[in-house]
Amino acid sequence: MKHEIKDIHCNAKNCVYNEEGSKCVAGHIEVGPSSACTCAETICATFEPSAEVSK
Ligand code: SF4
Repeated sequence: MKHEIKDIHCNAKNCVYNEEGSKCVAGHIEVGPSSACTCAETICATFEPSAEVSK
């Protein structure tokens, strides 16, 4: 049974959109690639490294 996901819980703590408590605050995310066949092949394309990481 499919259901809408209201909140996105993400553990990518080095992303600018990731807030304490592993919450994604991007509002809208893009996930791909379209060729993915398993969970392991999907990647959040909205990921942006936080300032500490991109230094
Ligand atoms: S944009 Fe993607 S990687 Fe970044 S916190 Fe949201 S779900 Fe995670």
